Amino acid sequence: MKQSMTFIPTLREVPAGADVKSHQLLLRAGYIRQTASGIYSFLPLGKKVLRKVEEIVREEMDNAGAAELLMPALQQSELWKESGRWATYGPELMRLNDRHDREFALGATHEEVIMSLVRDEIKSYKKLPLTLYQIQNKFRDEKRPRFGLLRGREFIMKDAYSFHSSFESLDETYEKLFEAYCKIFERCGLNFRAVIADSGAMGGKDTHEFMVLSDIGEDIIAYSDSSDYAANIEMAEVVDHYTVSEEKEEELEKVSTPNQRTIEDVSVFLNKESSQCVKSLLFKVDEEYVLVLSRGDHEINDIKVKNYLNAKVVELASASETKAVFGCEVGSIGPISINKDIRVIADNAVKYMTNAVTGANEDGYHYVNVNISRDVTAIGFADLRFIKEGDPSPDGQGKILFAKGIEVGHVFKLGTRYSAAMNGTYLDENGRAKEIIMGCYGIGVSRTLAAIAEQYNDENGLLWPSNLTPFDLHLIPINMKDEAQKTLTEELYQQLKQHRYDVLMDDRAERPGVKFADSDLIGLPIRITVGKKAGEGIVEVKVRKTGEMLEVKKEELLDTIQNLFETLA
Ligand code: ATP
Ligand code: MG
Repeated sequence: MKQSMTFIPTLREVPAGADVKSHQLLLRAGYIRQTASGIYSFLPLGKKVLRKVEEIVREEMDNAGAAELLMPALQQSELWKESGRWATYGPELMRLNDRHDREFALGATHEEVIMSLVRDEIKSYKKLPLTLYQIQNKFRDEKRPRFGLLRGREFIMKDAYSFHSSFESLDETYEKLFEAYCKIFERCGLNFRAVIADSGAMGGKDTHEFMVLSDIGEDIIAYSDSSDYAANIEMAEVVDHYTVSEEKEEELEKVSTPNQRTIEDVSVFLNKESSQCVKSLLFKVDEEYVLVLSRGDHEINDIKVKNYLNAKVVELASASETKAVFGCEVGSIGPISINKDIRVIADNAVKYMTNAVTGANEDGYHYVNVNISRDVTAIGFADLRFIKEGDPSPDGQGKILFAKGIEVGHVFKLGTRYSAAMNGTYLDENGRAKEIIMGCYGIGVSRTLAAIAEQYNDENGLLWPSNLTPFDLHLIPINMKDEAQKTLTEELYQQLKQHRYDVLMDDRAERPGVKFADSDLIGLPIRITVGKKAGEGIVEVKVRKTGEMLEVKKEELLDTIQNLFETLA
């Protein structure tokens, strides 16, 4: 492709409002342009990389036995009403009316559409299992679109859905697609982890998120320093690894702690460690009050509280609610001698605290020498806290470290959530109607592209891995008006194309400095410069990643390039 004939609007300055590297560079190198908040055009270079990412996704999905289809982006509200999500999906769903005032949504996801397709066509167990996928634009009116393609309002997703007559079959497909996802992200050259995630409101069982490790990630991952264990911090289990102290249990005593409200205040005032203080928080759990205890240096994880109590809604009680229940300020509450109707639960670590400090349910007073098992009756212990760095990895191997991650993919066992709501049944071997069991699997294709750009760049621009680069080679004549340079450039351009290289030739009448700066920004793996030695048939070859530079005779150019690509792969 001749550069004069394509559209690569590069920018020298960092555009305002672009906070992360990938967003800045994709804009500056002319890969994308924003048309409205969170809505982007892929310019020719961006489109070429996008196709390569999509091709990797397609190959691995096809290999895993999934078949591609394409569903409409425009979806009638009736289907969403059947699943119940018309009411629950919230403002992220872009809704609109047609000329007859019928309600539609722009697809944020396609469980409803695909369930309606499958339930109408798949009547027998003989047609199961079945896995279908598409690559398509999705619409979500995100509250905070940001970081360019990483969180858009219109973005490209690969979404797959699998259908089964048994949970074993779902497990098998889940496993297969899990493997396919690993291959996809490996082929994209990404440093990623598959992490155990929260199945949350979707009500499913197994679910994993694929996270690219990155400082700009919005999620925190807890991972083992010596195995491949990784989980979203909300989900990471804290094993009961604490030890019993040798200390003798002392007699419970109430002490005055005037104006000491926080764990920090109290521990300093009483000359104790925060790990010797019990933190007491009052939660409202499905309209009942529950007092939850943890060690002062630990944080209660309300998702764990919710799962332990099998509750629907768990929220911290307000200061005024707490005062109404305990008759004192939030900072003075504790588990001793409280109303028997209030259930008390504690994180496992609390069980091992000896002679601890708690609030005395009276402003300005605390108890010391509290021994929970002795002093509080009817208490339940469980893992209720957030994991911390340095905690043992739940798989028994190594210690936990934290990293930030960008979610690029998500696999999820849905079970019968949609078939039950939408009457998706098939007939089993005995002719009985059964609900179809389902799984769903998403990859943010445009987000993946941005995650790759985020990982592959330097101070001069992008640095594409050779399997994802928009063009293989950047061919740059210094001066197209020089006859020898022009002739050699044209000759090499034809020859390289014949050898199946995808070549971008900078035939523009720009100064060499401009051409080189643009070339570094665009980030193709190998640059061939045709300059002063063109008359002797000599060109300069530069490797973008390493800066390595070679003078090469035109007869040796093909071999040189082939060797360089082999070392880059
Ligand atoms: P997030 O927590 O980042 O909002 P999600 O849990 O809403 O993601 P899913 O519904 O699981 O995402 O969608 C599947 C995939 O689509 C995600 O793993 C992610 O890679 C991608 N994705 C989701 N929302 C966006 C967005 N606003 N812009 C770009 N990609 C997105
Ligand atoms: Mg989201």
